[in-house]
Amino acid sequence: MCDPEQATLYCKNDKIYFCEECSEKIHGNRDNAFFIGHDVVDAREAPLDYGLCSEHKRKNEYYNYSTARAYCIVCVVEGA
Ligand SMILES: [Zn+2]
Ligand SMILES: [Zn+2]
Ligand SMILES: [Zn+2]
Repeated sequence: MCDPEQATLYCKNDKIYFCEECSEKIHGNRDNAFFIGHDVVDAREAPLDYGLCSEHKRKNEYYNYSTARAYCIVCVVEGA
């Protein structure tokens, strides 16, 4: 996925930051119904900045409302 430093867009549905190129690749694919109608906003208007994952030093991009914790992509992949 994108380098968070280069991400200028934020998808509220995916809860992920995108650069314009990646967003276009994903959201511009009209054959992929899953991504149609997503609310993509300027990254500066992203609802919350979850900061960095203390464990992996990566930007937290996911928020789990049931545990009230933010996770980075490594946490999610590793199933933390
Ligand atoms: Zn990208
Ligand atoms: Zn999206
Ligand atoms: Zn992590």
